[in-house]
Order: sequence, then C-alpha cells, then structure tokens
Amino acid sequence: MGIVDGKVAVVTGGTRGIGYTIVKHFLDQGAKVALCGSKQETVDKALAKLAEEGFHDNVMGICPKLTDADSVQAAFQSVVDRFGRLDVLCNNAGVSSRTALVDYTTEEFESVIDINVIAPFVCSQAAARIMIEQGGHGSIINTSSMVGKYGQPSGSAYPTSKFAVNGLTLSLARELAKYDIRVNAVAPGVTHTDMVDALPESMIKPLIESIPLIQPLECCLCVYPCFACSGADFFVTELL
Ligand code: NAD
Repeated sequence: MGIVDGKVAVVTGGTRGIGYTIVKHFLDQGAKVALCGSKQETVDKALAKLAEEGFHDNVMGICPKLTDADSVQAAFQSVVDRFGRLDVLCNNAGVSSRTALVDYTTEEFESVIDINVIAPFVCSQAAARIMIEQGGHGSIINTSSMVGKYGQPSGSAYPTSKFAVNGLTLSLARELAKYDIRVNAVAPGVTHTDMVDALPESMIKPLIESIPLIQPLECCLCVYPCFACSGADFFVTELL
C-alpha cells in the first residue's frame, strides 16, 4: 500500500527531469497521475517510457497551454472526468535563463515570468476551484529554487520568477488554509537535468561548489513530505 493511495495528482512539466521523477514516485506510491506536458508528442513519449518502466495504469497525459485559464480548466476537468477528483497539483514546469541584463528584451524576460509565475497562478486557480467544489482538502506544491532565495549573477528573470513563486506560495497558503488546501514550495539546489545541462559551466560551477550535486530522484524525495502525509499526524503549509 502506497502513502498516496487513491489520490489524484497533476504534475506540470512531467515529461522529463524532476517532473518525470515526481510522476514515477506518485505512481509508485499508489496515486493516479495526469502527466502534463507542452506538446502531445513529448507527452506520448513520456507515457511510453513510463509503460516500459512498468507504469501502465493510472496515468494519463494532458497538454494544456499553461498560461491560458480556459485551456488549463478544460484539461483539469478531463482529469476529474477520468479519475473522479483532483487532490494534488505539482506546479513543476519551468524554464531557466542566462541572459545578461544589458542584452534582455522585455519579451524574453516576460516569457520566463509567463511559464514560471503566470502558469503556476493559472494552474493553482483551476485546481483550487475543483478542490473547493469537492468540499475542500488538497495540496498544491510549487517548485521554487535555491536562487529564489539568493539571486544569481545573470539571467535575472529566473530568480525573479522564483522569488515570485515564493510570494505566491506564502499568499495562497494563507488564502486556501480555510479550505484545508495546503500550499507549499520546494527550493531545489542544482539537480542534474536537461535544464542544468543546457547552462554554461561558469554559471553552474559556483552553485555546485556551495552544495553537493543532487539527482532528480533526491530532489523528488524533498517534494514528497509536503503532500504525502496528509493524515492527522502531519500538517504543513507554506514550507519553503
Ligand atoms: P527540465 O528542463 O528538465 O524540465 C522542465 C519541464 O518544464 C519540461 O517537462 C518542460 O516540457 C516543461 N516546460 C517548459 N516550458 C513549458 C511550457 N511553456 N509549457 C509547458 N511545459 C513547459 O527542468 P528541471 O530541472 O526538471 O526543472 C523542473 C523545475 O525545477 C523547474 O521549475 C525548475 O525551475 C526547477 N528547478 C530546477 C533545478 C535544477 O537544478 N534542475 C533547481 C531548482 C529548481
């Protein structure tokens, strides 16, 4: 018996990296999961990979436009239609940035804010509406970053977006507590994924030197306590 038996979770950015590992943990621990990706093709590939790894059942794919409220609401409703309810939202999808301040266009800066901040807001709104309609209870987990506490020396849109994720988390934790919907954020350090591999060594080295390099699985385990232990003996909201 898994510790999230019967729970229904949506994981954005679930096609690879940290999100894919979170999806596998949920499935392994008895949840039903909607794996959310940006393209049907990558969603299908991830579902095929999961099947190869033995996760055939209790998983579906969705690919709404995460900044579009109607698109997200329709996709989340399809999860409720298939699995009967929605208990957990993992706002994991994100993009990094490395551009110097003097080279940024407003459009580029906005594109990072869109996926890293507007998308978690839109998805949290859609999920909360469903959770409240169900009578309350639920868990929203946002993915922040260690640079959302300290900043970084280039690509300022990224830490700016993660500071905003922290603010969204702290505010929604207060707003949704009355519905017994817990809102938490995890702030991973450097985790070995495609996102990190695409960044220059000069940006990653100082971060790695300050902490041990960790892998997606370990990062996923740091997400786990936030949502998994929903029994009366465990309660946490607004963890950062
Ligand atoms: P990744 O690049 O491997 O995965 C990012 C995921 O987000 C992918 O599934 C991608 O398809 C999805 N995504 C990106 N843009 C999207 C869009 N427009 N619409 C829908 N989905 C989109 O990165 P990762 O390292 O697994 O990062 C996952 C989360 O963890 C991100 O929020 C990231 O900021 C955060 N994080 C990562 C690290 C790290 O060291 N890897 C550290 C701290 C925080």
